[in-house]
Amino acid sequence: MEHPCLRCGACCAYFRVAFHWSEAEPFLGGVVPAELTEKLDPHRLAMRGTNAAAPRCTALQGTVGEAAHCGIYPQRPSVCREVAPSWEFGAVSPQCDKARRAHGLPVLTPQDWLDPSTSGTPPLPQSA
Ligand code: SF4
Ligand code: SF4
Repeated sequence: MEHPCLRCGACCAYFRVAFHWSEAEPFLGGVVPAELTEKLDPHRLAMRGTNAAAPRCTALQGTVGEAAHCGIYPQRPSVCREVAPSWEFGAVSPQCDKARRAHGLPVLTPQDWLDPSTSGTPPLPQSA
């Protein structure tokens, strides 16, 4: 059984993914690829594609709800690391549920984590 995030990607195509500009500044230790970002305001960048009426992060690969993954997973912004899928760690994730519902997907339940092969796998991240 695959990690549920790898059959989803909804949060990467729902939220505006905004973060401090320093996360894309190598001189300051930033790792987010600057070419995949756009300036949001004097303090923040956004992942390209997410500051739109129908957001979809430019780094998201695949098809939402079928097979999707982050193309820059080790370099994703901090906000993407903060969104946990519902019930992976024993609690509902409002952001996960909201994004999945918006894409017509059922929210995750504790049963989605019963397969031991899915535990400990990092989630596909999410947003601001
Ligand atoms: S955190 Fe939730 S919405 Fe985001 S990819 Fe995983 S299952 Fe989908
Ligand atoms: S996890 Fe990756 S694909 Fe998803 S919003 Fe963040 S950078 Fe984009």
